[in-house]
Amino acid sequence: MTKQHTEVDKRRTFAIISHPDAGKTTITEQLLLFGGAIRQAGTVKGKKTGNFAKSDWMEIEKQRGISVTSSVMQFDYDGKRVNILDTPGHEDFSEDTYRTLMAVDAAVMVVDSAKGIEAQTKKLFKVCRMRGIPIFTFMNKLDRDGREPLDLLSELEEVLEIDSYPMNWPIGMGKGLEGLYDMYHNRVELYHPEKYGSEERFISLNEDGEIPAEHPLHQDSIYSQVLEDVELLQEAGNEFSEELVMAGELTPVFFGSALTNFGVQTFLETFLQFAPKPSSHKTKEGELVSPYEEEFSGFIFKIQANMNPAHRDRIAFLRVCSGTFERGMDVHLARTGKKMKLSNSTQFMADSRATVQEAVAGDIIGLYDTGNYQIGDTLFGGNFNVSYEDLPQFTPELFMKVTAKNVMKQKSFHKGMEQLVQEGAIQLYKTYHTEDYIIGAVGQLQFEVFQHRMLNEYNSEVIMTPMGSKTARWIDPEQLDEKMSSSRNILVKDRYDQPLFLFENNFAMRWFADKYPDVELKAKL
Ligand code: GDP
Repeated sequence: MTKQHTEVDKRRTFAIISHPDAGKTTITEQLLLFGGAIRQAGTVKGKKTGNFAKSDWMEIEKQRGISVTSSVMQFDYDGKRVNILDTPGHEDFSEDTYRTLMAVDAAVMVVDSAKGIEAQTKKLFKVCRMRGIPIFTFMNKLDRDGREPLDLLSELEEVLEIDSYPMNWPIGMGKGLEGLYDMYHNRVELYHPEKYGSEERFISLNEDGEIPAEHPLHQDSIYSQVLEDVELLQEAGNEFSEELVMAGELTPVFFGSALTNFGVQTFLETFLQFAPKPSSHKTKEGELVSPYEEEFSGFIFKIQANMNPAHRDRIAFLRVCSGTFERGMDVHLARTGKKMKLSNSTQFMADSRATVQEAVAGDIIGLYDTGNYQIGDTLFGGNFNVSYEDLPQFTPELFMKVTAKNVMKQKSFHKGMEQLVQEGAIQLYKTYHTEDYIIGAVGQLQFEVFQHRMLNEYNSEVIMTPMGSKTARWIDPEQLDEKMSSSRNILVKDRYDQPLFLFENNFAMRWFADKYPDVELKAKL
């Protein structure tokens, strides 16, 4: 095996998805601690800093300590090189969050066991599902009273329509938490081993799947309840199938408590056993490029602007798909054919930025950008000449009317608008005839970043008028009749001139569907 081959095989690249407050930051920190990437918890981001001045996103960045360094975190564990990509929640949720999922090979879904599946998890899950990547579930906060584990599993299956397979099962919960019955490793993992007069965390199960009769837990009614649940699962539950896990059709479920660091290491080790190696990537022509291919290639999935206000630089995040990236190498930008030298690149770690020397498929590198790159761009080395397929378009949920404050500055307004739209920072729609500009986003922060960048980078002050949340649905241009539009369903076209309606709410959409049953209403992702 070549060195490249060996290196690629070590890579495990994934994102952690969750609803805000389910415990993503806490679990990420635990993983980084295990990997030796940080020395103490609280390093990842100090985001719980209360209210921040919404108008100034640079301030937001500073205050919350969100930085490019926490967008991608890398560490070594068990002979694997792990890349965790952050998918921000809260106010900083944006299309970039979705696009990050295009750059990973697996996802870990963290669920608050008291709350079950929440809205944002559902959205992110949908994107993972569309990609067909393996999804692993961590049911968090076992140290608190939560919902019945069987309930959680059936909700998972019903709401997300994915089969599940518990790898372990909680023995009690909240104050009554005793441990995990780990059917995958055939052992019980104790929450408080000292309670039983030993430091040994793990007790092996016998052939009957029982802990030894002399163990005090053996008499515990909680334990016998677990055995009943496990028996039920064995009889009525799904069978484990690595193939289905890899296809993203079966999610292995782990229980634990990130805060008290219980079950997290078991999760990490088992996850790394199953997590896939870097996958092949599809070109525009539909061909697959193997991660072992010798020529370098990769695509840009995220552009983070204004990292350094003095220089107005941006960082383009590139997922390496093949070959070996070397510092200073020459590459081509597929969209323009332009040749560029990749000398200024960064590799990401939890608490420092280091210069990357070498990266292979699965790794993420940050490229300093002075305005050359767009979301979805492919870079390749030599004469490889590949172009990866476009990243999907997402259905925005929030809309604003936007105009230039100073009518004399239309030129800079249009330039900024065009570039930010191309870059994927915001989506642009125009009304028919009057050509009014409407911008769309999946998260509020996108608007704030847009406004800030328009002013700072293009010297264009914009006026934004909120239109609230709308449901966007595309229609076939052939079926378009402008008389179909009203104030409850505004007709606009996207930047590819495709018609869509912005519905005031689901009620308006149903009304429309009843009135025009032949018109198919299509959502993007
Ligand atoms: P994120 O928004 O998903 O990144 O969530 P955080 O990791 O910031 O956690 C949100 C809150 O839940 C914080 O106050 C955490 O301390 C708390 N938390 C996280 N994991 C656990 C857990 O396992 N048990 C308990 N009791 N609290 C937790």
